[in-house]
Amino acid sequence: MTSFPTLNPPIRTLLGPGPSDIHPRVLQAIGKNTVGHLDPYYLQLMDASQQMLRSLFRTENRMTFSVSATGSAGMEATVVNLIEPDDSMVVCVNGVFGTRMCDVAERAGAKVTKVDRPWGEVFAPEDLVDVLTKTQPKVVGIVMAETSTGAWQPIEEIAKIVHDAGAMLLVDAVTALGGVPVEVDKWGIDAIYSGSQKCLSCPPGLAPVSFNDRAMETILSRKTKVQSWYLDVTMLANYWGSDRVYHHTAPINMSYALYEALQIIHEEGLESCFARHRMNHEALKAGLGALGIEYTAQVGHQLPMLNAVRIPDGVDDARIRGDLLNRFGIEIGAGLGVFKGKVWRVGLMGYGSRAANVLLLLSALEQLLAEQGYKFDHGASIAAATSRYSQNS
Ligand SMILES: *Cc1c(COP(=O)(O)O)cnc(C)c1O
Repeated sequence: MTSFPTLNPPIRTLLGPGPSDIHPRVLQAIGKNTVGHLDPYYLQLMDASQQMLRSLFRTENRMTFSVSATGSAGMEATVVNLIEPDDSMVVCVNGVFGTRMCDVAERAGAKVTKVDRPWGEVFAPEDLVDVLTKTQPKVVGIVMAETSTGAWQPIEEIAKIVHDAGAMLLVDAVTALGGVPVEVDKWGIDAIYSGSQKCLSCPPGLAPVSFNDRAMETILSRKTKVQSWYLDVTMLANYWGSDRVYHHTAPINMSYALYEALQIIHEEGLESCFARHRMNHEALKAGLGALGIEYTAQVGHQLPMLNAVRIPDGVDDARIRGDLLNRFGIEIGAGLGVFKGKVWRVGLMGYGSRAANVLLLLSALEQLLAEQGYKFDHGASIAAATSRYSQNS
């Protein structure tokens, strides 16, 4: 018999665009006893998970739960439930994930109108005025934390103009949730989705979603069946609601992981959690600034959990990332699309957003940049970062 290599994944520090480092408590949770998906113990856990998700999304929405698949399935679930063939949908595109949402919406049969902004920039309500008047969309889709560019999209004012035009607002909060405030009820977001492996620091595999009453009424009064059987919210509601009708076998142990991850966030408190993300971002930014490395996203709209920065001229992108991984065990992300070869993406997400990681990355980067002959003031990045930390203590 052929023998296959023993499973032995290396220990990494995951500072890329996701997955992020998993909290040890979350990894332990996955290994706990599997129960059935209709076991009273599991049903109790589902209720508690929903409550924790509601408080993280800051919503009372009854239809708040996790889709059994990754963030992209959260995108599909929200789009295919809200959209019927020939519905008009506007999608705001300033990076990879807006582009993906267009594709998903077109496949669902929507007449999609794309509104573009340059990568790294965000949308202002004025950018939508014309398209809303012209196309009278049913749904407007927008990405709150564009992981490909590091841009932080304000949502509240966009929600107002979208609602004034009679449309519903669909928000991608895959990277946003757990890293920055997401106010579903206050901002009037009609449907929203996230993913488990970004700021929730869970393995990939679950997509928290939430639909408000308006969205649910729209879905319940559809003329056509939801195009996807697996993601049909009307059927999922019978499992997550009080009827507990079997739909698909829930990924039990992944739900344990999400449960534990949500608990960790609630123990820390949302405000402290967001403040920690901000602090580590500012320290990293100070450090990278001392190396002459600049951010790609518009000033004032830079995400704390996803630091997209320009690779300095003359520095070998692939070699730096390869050396970080192979010699230091650190993963950072490459640039996507128009940013390929030009941008690094440093994630400081959830459990990964820690001073130890900021200082580790800066020291490793200083060593590797020096080897490539890049000129900078040695030790300056560490000094700048630690000085930022000491202002806070
Ligand atoms: C990661 C990500 C997704 C896709 O999530 P997957 O879990 O990779 O399917 C969608 N939108 C944004 C903004 C993301 O960062």
